[in-house]
Amino acid sequence: MGIFSDKNIRPKNYMEDIVIRYMDRIMADINCCKCQACLMDIAAYALNRLPSKYIVTREGEVYSRLLELEQQFKTDVIIAIMKAIEVVSKNPRHVKEDKGDSNSDG
Ligand SMILES: [Zn+2]
Repeated sequence: MGIFSDKNIRPKNYMEDIVIRYMDRIMADINCCKCQACLMDIAAYALNRLPSKYIVTREGEVYSRLLELEQQFKTDVIIAIMKAIEVVSKNPRHVKEDKGDSNSDG
């Protein structure tokens, strides 16, 4: 009987969408671990450094609001992601697999 009974009517943090989209582009050019654990850590780290941008809009309006946000925060998002990749790469929390990779320890 909660007031939020309709799951469709909830504010959504569009910064998440923007960060994930930019991670995709940035990480394609960077040689870092792209396992699920590291991706989630990088996304979380970046999002914690960025303002949350909750938007409640009708369907047609979302896209233009998203573009607006993206333009406004593009530089901040890229910087936050780069920093997140650096931090997570230094201290990855993923379970080490027994691969003969060129991973230097230290
Ligand atoms: Zn990893």
